[in-house]
Amino acid sequence: MATVLCVLYPDPLDGMPREYARDAIPHITAYPGGATAPTPRAVDFTPGELLGSVSGELGLRGFLEAAGHTLIVTSDKDGEDSEFERRLPEADVVISQPFWPGYLDARRLAKATRLRLAITAGIGSDHVDLAEAIARGITVAEVTYSNSISVAEHAVMQILALVRDFVPAHELVRAGGWDIADAVRRSYDLEGMTVGVMAAGRIGRAVLERLAPFGVHLVYTDKHPLPADVEQRLGARRIERLEDLVAEVDVLSIHAPLQPETFRLFDDAMLARMRRGSYIVNTARAAIMDRDAVVRALESGRLAGYAGDVWYPQPPAANHPWRSMPHEAMTPHMSGSSLSAQTRYAAGTREILECFLDGAPIRDEYLIAEGGALAGAGAVAYTARSGEASPGSSGR
Ligand code: NAD
Repeated sequence: MATVLCVLYPDPLDGMPREYARDAIPHITAYPGGATAPTPRAVDFTPGELLGSVSGELGLRGFLEAAGHTLIVTSDKDGEDSEFERRLPEADVVISQPFWPGYLDARRLAKATRLRLAITAGIGSDHVDLAEAIARGITVAEVTYSNSISVAEHAVMQILALVRDFVPAHELVRAGGWDIADAVRRSYDLEGMTVGVMAAGRIGRAVLERLAPFGVHLVYTDKHPLPADVEQRLGARRIERLEDLVAEVDVLSIHAPLQPETFRLFDDAMLARMRRGSYIVNTARAAIMDRDAVVRALESGRLAGYAGDVWYPQPPAANHPWRSMPHEAMTPHMSGSSLSAQTRYAAGTREILECFLDGAPIRDEYLIAEGGALAGAGAVAYTARSGEASPGSSGR
């Protein structure tokens, strides 16, 4: 019988919702490109419910306990005395969400002597030290595509929020004002601008697709070029070097995984290559940025705005400088955890667990690492060199 240790974010401050804003969510069965949405044997929740917080339990308790397994759910995840770290030696399976990451660095993995499977309920497994997990033969899996469109929608929203300067205008009306000149003095149209996407994987490509009708010039960079017919349809031009891409854009949307080669890539020097008054939206991972270089670039005017939903570590301290820097349109890490996305990644988590507990293969597209090597989707997105810790896995 397996012990499943699950780290989820705390419940809403006023308790679990008794009702929801909408009665139902659209039923998505397939993703662009034809991959199917998760296909567990069953789910024990109503689509659209809050599943990602502690009481939501990703809808897993009934299924696991009926089969005799143990489910431990906690939000207490940081520090050696946290429940997560104390219970690690018991865990055969760890489940964590990037929004409230249960960091699994080499030190913690050494404590997790029974661990065979680390599931990311969502996408992005940088909170796990992949090189160490590979060395220990631990399978790492995530629910690929479950929230890719959710994030792409959030990125497009934040691009528009920055360029049109939505947040200060909104605050102005909430405060009883009607100062049009104040509201418009940093407000522009996106039309005609050059928008760059760093990493045109599932999310980056979806951002390109969504922005194409806005009459913008699209450029992107990725190790793997998009198919030529897609480039042509979108009018998207690949630029090989990131240094050249950033110099050409008015707006940059970042969608690369966090790994050694992308860690703190955006430092003072990289930001200095951008045009004065550029915008960056980063819904990938915060540690791709040099935190303080972003603040300096906003203060100097090199950046006209910065937005995103990813922070490091998570949760960020109350005095994290991104909470108070100028011209930001930040949210907490929420883009991939809409109620719509939760339905899919909870179902996908159950599908992965069903396969694992049955001894059946996990879908290749869900695999990040397996059998002592990168695998499936992970072999495309990540590089994991032995002895090189995954930046982002320690939570410090
Ligand atoms: P994906 O695997 O489909 O795409 C990743 C792309 O990055 C691939 O095309 C790969 O070739 C490219 N890439 C890797 N290293 C690169 C580099 N150094 N330079 C340029 N391109 C590089 O993944 P996805 O579903 O599009 O997700 C991308 C990332 O978004 C995830 O790794 C995760 O960190 C983040 N994410 C955030 C949220 C959120 O809620 N904010 C949710 C899901 C994913």
